[in-house]
Amino acid sequence: MASPSSALNKSSMVQQGRIRVLKEGSTPSGRDAGPVVYWMFRDQRLRDNWALIHAVDQANKANVPVAIAFNLFDQFLGAKARQLGFMLRGLRLLHRDLEQTLQIPFFLFQGEAIETIPNFLREYGASLLVTDFSPLREVQKWKEEICKRVGKKVSLHEVDAHNIVPTWVASEKLEYSARTIRGAEVPEIKWCESGENAAVEILMGSKNGFLTKRLKNYSTDRNNPLKPGALSGLSPYLHFGQISAQRCALEAKKIQKNCPQAVDVFLEELIVRRELADNFCFYQPRYNSLQGAWEWARKTLMDHASDKREHIYTKEQLENAQTADPLWNASQLEMVHYGKMHGFMRMYWAKKILEWTRGPEEALAISIYLNDKYEIDGRDPNGYVGCMWSICGVHDQGWQERQIFGKIRYMNYAGCKRKFDVDGYIAYVKRLVTETKKRKAESSLGKEAKELRV
Ligand code: FAD
Repeated sequence: MASPSSALNKSSMVQQGRIRVLKEGSTPSGRDAGPVVYWMFRDQRLRDNWALIHAVDQANKANVPVAIAFNLFDQFLGAKARQLGFMLRGLRLLHRDLEQTLQIPFFLFQGEAIETIPNFLREYGASLLVTDFSPLREVQKWKEEICKRVGKKVSLHEVDAHNIVPTWVASEKLEYSARTIRGAEVPEIKWCESGENAAVEILMGSKNGFLTKRLKNYSTDRNNPLKPGALSGLSPYLHFGQISAQRCALEAKKIQKNCPQAVDVFLEELIVRRELADNFCFYQPRYNSLQGAWEWARKTLMDHASDKREHIYTKEQLENAQTADPLWNASQLEMVHYGKMHGFMRMYWAKKILEWTRGPEEALAISIYLNDKYEIDGRDPNGYVGCMWSICGVHDQGWQERQIFGKIRYMNYAGCKRKFDVDGYIAYVKRLVTETKKRKAESSLGKEAKELRV
């Protein structure tokens, strides 16, 4: 579908490899050209945003206005108040910054993008739609549908502003409707401030920035769940595109000689692991299914699918952290209440789900369901590939064959005990949960008091 295009101005400020022409319109020249619309989706930021730069660049060249459109889906991959609240707060700040700095109009729609975006293009008389790249199936399908629904003259450019190496190259009045975040089944989290400024603060702020203050412990402590501060904490910002991965890599490179090992390990995670996940989802349409695993992994998992399990738990038991393993329960509670499970525990957590369910398909479905429902950074290619890595051996090798796991890499409680203070982690999560529940009770009491006064 995508091809290099003559319609693409070769002197574009953005590298040609970042841009895919999904539809080439009968672009009118001169006075007939309509405005450019940037449909912001995955990269919710103004800084270091190649899609926005491309949209502004094309508008300047054609001497036409540019606008940003954002569509709030009624439902998107099961996002709850936790994820939507974070996103909406970020968008509110983005809108404020946009008005103060760039004076580009920002339009927020609610509903199905395949309707709102073509309708807006028509009303606005746009000639070019620029949009973010996402490897997820749903998003690709919307774009295909939008290509069919927009007028003949409209071109559609997709820009990969999320990856350092683009995936296909490597191989008016704004209302933030509370309607979208109804159903507080998964409440918002308070510790993670949203927005581009907060993201930059986490990356390199003078108080507790990752590169400024915490980097030196990354290579030694990143696998210790009792030291979450050793991790960057960037995943919510990267997921919602509130910071550019390229910016994170460039800033890390600048200080490489101070902490060479830590920077190397960080870049490996940030670039190789993260972009491999986009690569997998883009080229493997069954990225969240056993069918998407390599042949050897499917075979070994099916060979062991009916092995006897010591425990079998239902989805509800797992969701409510009702297993016989206090370490696993702690990790589940960290995710449910805090909204971000430590990276090391995510592997153990998913592997145990394989051990305790009726087979790999069920394990995968449950892990993705829980991950997407509770993680602030969920519904991301990294999440699908993280679950596929843990349960289906994607991007891993075969290991010594054993019950249930077959040749899939195995993790157990004893191994964790050798690596870190398991009891300390369980106690840490208990405190975290108590504090979160206390804050929740205080805030609902405050709300009731306010209502009484009214
Ligand atoms: P850091 O270690 O500081 O990493 C920096 C960045 O590098 C991360 O933000 C991420 O973009 C990237 N990165 C780090 N580890 C990985 C990895 N293993 N795979 C791909 N990219 C990586 N990540 C998500 O963003 N969303 C998810 O929903 C998600 N679910 C996961 C589920 C399972 C079962 C597993 C095993 C991993 C999952 N990951 C997910 C990957 C990883 O655990 C998180 O990216 C990381 O814990 C986020 O915290 P951080 O940014 O502080 O990590």
